[in-house]
Amino acid sequence: MKTMQCDICEQEFSAETFDDWFKQMQGHYMSDHADFMKEAQSKSKEEGMKWMADMKAKFESR
Ligand SMILES: [Zn+2]
Repeated sequence: MKTMQCDICEQEFSAETFDDWFKQMQGHYMSDHADFMKEAQSKSKEEGMKWMADMKAKFESR
């Protein structure tokens, strides 16, 4: 089980895999960071992929 913090606030999420962690983050983003979600949708797919890759690398290095 790994624990990693949200990249915007202090809230932490624990999961066995990055996919599970990301699923929790999606729900958290939608309820707590709706503005960020809106902004993210206007960004390019490449940026989204990069964010994903960065977060995954961080998670894996825990
Ligand atoms: Zn957060």
